Amino acid sequence: VSATQSNVILVTGGSGLVGSALRYVVEHETADSTYGKRKGEEWIFLSSSECDLRDIQQTRKVFNKYRPKEVIHLAARVGGLFANMSSQQTFLRDNLLMNDSVLQVSHEIRVKKVVSCLSTCVFPDQVTYPLTEEKIHLGQPHSSNFGYSHAKRLIDIQNHAYHDQFGDQFTSVIPTNVFGPGDNYNLQSAHVIPGLIHKCYLAKKNQTPFVVFGSGKPLRQFIYSRDLAKLFIWVLREYKEIDPIILSVAEEDEVPIKEVANAIIEAMNFRGPVEYDTSKADGQYRKPASNSKLTKLMKESGTKHFEFTPFKTALEESVEWFLESYDNGA
Ligand code: GDP
Repeated sequence: VSATQSNVILVTGGSGLVGSALRYVVEHETADSTYGKRKGEEWIFLSSSECDLRDIQQTRKVFNKYRPKEVIHLAARVGGLFANMSSQQTFLRDNLLMNDSVLQVSHEIRVKKVVSCLSTCVFPDQVTYPLTEEKIHLGQPHSSNFGYSHAKRLIDIQNHAYHDQFGDQFTSVIPTNVFGPGDNYNLQSAHVIPGLIHKCYLAKKNQTPFVVFGSGKPLRQFIYSRDLAKLFIWVLREYKEIDPIILSVAEEDEVPIKEVANAIIEAMNFRGPVEYDTSKADGQYRKPASNSKLTKLMKESGTKHFEFTPFKTALEESVEWFLESYDNGA
């Protein structure tokens, strides 16, 4: 069977935050909707328990088993600031190896399209805002996660090299701060939304203050994992370039951390005291990304205007998921 005859869409990192959102969208949208599973499509969600993608032999074996027509490559070693700072080499090497296996094996079995996932932390530390797609390689990334950032930047270089030499259609997307059901709620490594949901839960349960790190002033653009999943499907079907595309809400939709904390307090119905621990880092004050390339190309492709889920609704759904799974011993 040649890869071009199969209808398999293989998702690496299929059980992670974005992978599980893709599964949700594919299973819940109707076939005639823009983002639903189309007739004949077979979606396979690969998890790390099935294959260690750092090992190219294992990768070959699993790709030969499913013979994907297309690949969404989400698998990565990811972690919060602290994990990155303590293990630069692990973040660099694990990601380099995974990306090399997935792209090389996709090339070998003639996968028609690969969409890989970058992150806004790949951008230079010293850069003019808003972030736009062509600024990725203009300077050093922030030193706190240089291992991860350089490995991710290299995906874009690999994509261009495979295209240049062989004509492969390998591309990448750059999401902003993602949150949603199935997130990582581990307090040591969580991003701000899952971290604050977990801390607010514990504050309510233990009748202790709800402690938010930093001043609450930094601004972030958050994207709901299920919105991101739909945009991934649009990219897979409609986006033709090798260069990356930013997947984000609009620049004017930045949310201050304090507003995030207040929305969580409301969703959790928390009535206790709130404290801002300013001995903890604020990180970058803001790093707004432009979604103008996305909006322009979606319009040109004839896709109807994309409605992002309102932040509050998305947050409530995430809190609901957390409460259900936490109570089930997660
Ligand atoms: P970033 O968007 O890549 O910087 O990563 P985060 O999702 O970790 O967001 C960090 C921002 O949220 C910083 O301004 C932190 O000071 C603030 N923040 C407040 N409380 C928390 C928390 O409990 N955990 C985390 N990770 N960030 C927090």
